This record gives sequence, C-alpha cells and structure tokens, in this order.
Amino acid sequence: MNAKPTEDDYLTIDHLHQYAYCPRRMHLMYMDGRWDDNLYTDEGRAAHRRTDAADAVLPEPTPGADGDPPPTVARSVSLSSPVLGLSGKLDLVETEGAEALPVDTKRGAPPDNPLQSYEPERVQLMAQGLLLREHGFSCGRGMLYFAAARRRVEVVFTAELEARTRHLLAEARAAARRPDPPPPLEESPKCNGCSLAGICLPDEVNYLNARRPAQPGDLRRLYPARDDALPLYVQEQGARVRKEGEGLAAAKGEQNLGRFLLKDVSQAVLCGNVSITPQALHLLCERGVPVVHLSMGGWFYGLTMGHGLRNAYDRAAQFRAASDPGRCLAFARAVVGAKGHNQRTLLRRNAGGAAEAGLDALARLLDRVERAEALEALLGVEGALAAAYFAHWSTMVRESALASGFAFSERNRRPPRDPVNALLSFGYALLAKECMVALLAEGLDPWWGLYHQPRHGRPALALDLMEEFRPLVVDSAVLTALNTGMVQADQFAGGRAGCLMKPAARKAFIQAYELRLDQFVTHPRFDYRCSWRAVIRLQARLLTKWLRGDVPEYVGITTR
Ligand code: SF4
Repeated sequence: MNAKPTEDDYLTIDHLHQYAYCPRRMHLMYMDGRWDDNLYTDEGRAAHRRTDAADAVLPEPTPGADGDPPPTVARSVSLSSPVLGLSGKLDLVETEGAEALPVDTKRGAPPDNPLQSYEPERVQLMAQGLLLREHGFSCGRGMLYFAAARRRVEVVFTAELEARTRHLLAEARAAARRPDPPPPLEESPKCNGCSLAGICLPDEVNYLNARRPAQPGDLRRLYPARDDALPLYVQEQGARVRKEGEGLAAAKGEQNLGRFLLKDVSQAVLCGNVSITPQALHLLCERGVPVVHLSMGGWFYGLTMGHGLRNAYDRAAQFRAASDPGRCLAFARAVVGAKGHNQRTLLRRNAGGAAEAGLDALARLLDRVERAEALEALLGVEGALAAAYFAHWSTMVRESALASGFAFSERNRRPPRDPVNALLSFGYALLAKECMVALLAEGLDPWWGLYHQPRHGRPALALDLMEEFRPLVVDSAVLTALNTGMVQADQFAGGRAGCLMKPAARKAFIQAYELRLDQFVTHPRFDYRCSWRAVIRLQARLLTKWLRGDVPEYVGITTR
C-alpha cells in the first residue's frame, strides 16, 4: 500500500472527492464510465464556468525574496505528483511568495453544520494542498467558495485532515484496481442527491441482496418515473432530417414537417426512405442520442450512435455468462417463464371465461419451464406456450374488430399474412429496437445472447430481454389499436402472400405503442410507480448487475 504509485495507479482529485462521497460512485464514474446529470451537477458546472475558462501555470514559489512579492491569482491550474500518484485541476490558486491558498468553487451555499462544509469537500481541498506542497509551496489552509451565497469558508489543513485524506487516497487506489463495484450505501440520504442513483439503483440492489430495506414498499425510486425526452419517429417518405441550431428539423422538399429540441428527443427513428444530414448525425452522436433505422415495414436495420460506454467489464461479464450453460439456463428459464406468465395474465384479463382451456394449458406448460434441464428443452416448452397462447388470442379481440377485417387464427411472420400478424411483427420490431437501445446504453453487446443463440444479423440479447415484454407491451398495444378502432382494415394492403401496413396504420400503431410505453405501472417487484419504458430500462440495468454479480439472480417482470 505504501509502494510508490505506478502511472496506472494515478488518481485525480475528483476520484478522491467522489470516493469520499461514496466508493460506489467513484467506481461507476471512473471504472465503469457512467455519468448522468441532475440539478446539482448542472449547477456545479455552471458555478465552474469562470474557473474552467482558461488554463494557467503557477508562478515559481519565491521563499525569502527581498521585499513583499506581488500576490498572484491563477485559475484552472493543472498539477500532478508522482509521489502522491495524484493529479488534478485546481479551480483557483492565490500565491504570495512561497505561500499558496487553493480556492475551490462549490455550488449553492455553505451547509448548516459547525465546519460549514462536508468531508468530501474538505478532503478534496486538502488533496489540492498536498499537491501544492509537492510543488514547493507552503500551504496550511484552503478556501471553499460557495457560488450562490458568494461566501468563502476556510478549511484549515490539520494533521487529522491530512491523515484522513492520505488514508482515503490509499483506499481509493486499492478500490480502483478492483473490477467490480462496491455495494451501494444503505438508506443513505446521499443517494437522494446523487446523479448516478438511477444507474446505481441503491435501494433495489440492496433489496435484491436481502440487505435493507426489507419491504419493497420502502424502496425509494431515485430516477425519473417517466422520461421527458421521447422517440422522434420520421415516417414521411422522402423526408430529410437536418441540424437546426441545437435541435433537429425535418422537411420534405419545401414542406416543413417539424422542429424538435434535442433535449426532447430520446432517439431518432427513421422509417424507410428518410435521410439525415451528416451535421445532424454528428450532433446526435455527440449527445448520445441513437438513430434507429427501420424499413417501411418495420424491419430493424440497425442503429447509429456515438462512442457509447468505454468500459469492457460489462461485456466481459456478458461473454463469461454466455459461455456458462448453467447461467444461460437460469436466465432462459426466467425470461421464458415470465413471458408465459404474462401471456396467461393478458389472456385472463382480456378474454374472460372465453379462454379457460388456454389458461389451463398455459398453467400446465409453465410448470414445465422450471423443470427444463437444457435450452433445447426450454425452446420446446416456449413453442408450446406460444401455440397455446396464440390459439386463443382472438378471444381477446372484440367482435366488432373481428368482423371488420381483423380475424386472427394463427401467428405467422416473414411475411405476416394478415393485418393482426403485421401489427404484431411491427410491434416486436419496435420493441427489439427499444431493448437494443437499452442494452447498448448499459454497455452490453446486443448481438450476443444467453438464450437466443448468436446468428448473423440477429440481436440475440435484445431478443432475450424483450421476451417478457412482448405480451405486456406489444400484444397489449395491438389489442388497444384493434379494440378501440385506432387502426382500420383498409389501412392494410396485400393478402395471404404478405400483408403490408399502409402509412396510416403504422402511424396509428406507433401511437398505441408509444402510449403503452408511456403508461404508468406499479413496478411488480419494487412497488413504486414508473412507466413501462422505465421498467424496460431498469430490467436492462438489472441484467447488467446480475451479469456483474451485483445482484444474485435475474428475475423476469411478471404482472398479476
Ligand atoms: S446512489 Fe448512493 S450508493 Fe449509489 S453511487 Fe450514489 S451515493 Fe453511492
């Protein structure tokens, strides 16, 4: 621990600051490359705008020079020390001869406690003092400048604070060498203000590991229940999407189709013959907004997105799990069981007594899911579940819809041969892209599955993740579109050789699908309210945590 740090062991002052706040936060930010903003990080960035504006170098310390040396102020000063194995950028340093005073800018006002500061801030400032000492200055105190209150708070560099800072630095260095994140804090108020709470999922992870809180009703939902930004679908054939200021504009020839602020767009979905300019693509890549390419019929061609996550640990864990037959089977049982359960629930809710035989058949088959001892056996059970479910599917469609051209007798695809199958196929393609985006956001490889086997062009892990959501999201949206008259039979073309959705049908179904994703639900495991879109993202996150060993098992989402 006392050996001189190597170049790989270098930490920044911000590593140390984050570690002092929460060891898991440092790991998520710096080992896993995760980041998310919240109000506090936005305010912090705004408070630093002035100090970050220009880099500066410090004057040489001038001990014992004749006369009083002129005081200097340097902003945004980069320092490092091989002895400490530490580097950092100091907001502001005031020097006078050999004396240096670091001043660190903070958002808000000083906290109401005896020292008018929190330990992570004092440790961060002490580390700046240690760096200045390494560079020949004498430094016995520093200042925290609270931007909103425009107040300075002095922090004296006591022997105790120095020892604590050196201790945390050694701990942080050891933690940075470990590939897996430390457990979350337990019921800590720090999590309420942590911008990474939605990625870390402290209460959920502690609950799933049988740490506290003991009851799902006690869990805090520390991420937004519903996204402010939504997918932007561009379906007008021949349309072109271009960058306009900090947003996007879509047009077809001279006809303006709409303008969209980037903050409102979670993904740009281009359907069919829709082009996008390089400038718009660069902007979207830079801001981490994926561009989804679908064919007119809903075939999912792929995604364009920026660099994505640069940590390889999640993918390494994914590939390890994918080569472990026991883990693959456990995962496959979870997703197939959840899908079958949700198919049965949808049937029970929507068909009433008309599907008793189907409900019994599904219940019997669900018993076999847990007993399946190999993926091949599970595939057979899954096929039987699908056959029993779709044999009774039409009992969920209203008589009026059945009579108006939406009869359904069996599930068929490639190509779908009737309007209901066309809607189901289109919906599953939309769900696959939703799951793919969620997995990529987690740093996983959507092409390498644990249940679905890798095959050229098949997003196997996205197909794995979407299984449990097929009935909950897509089948439910199709039923809504049919039973409420959102789609009409004359919005489809073709026949038994292949049924095509006309633009009006696609538009109406996308509306039904997006409404479903936006709908609030009580999370079946955590007992808080959030949208279906948030539930999908949460499952992708929990899958990642299971792969990394952060939670003990993957459990599929099932509704009652
Ligand atoms: S949410 Fe809590 S446990 Fe998780 S990183 Fe933030 S402070 Fe740490």
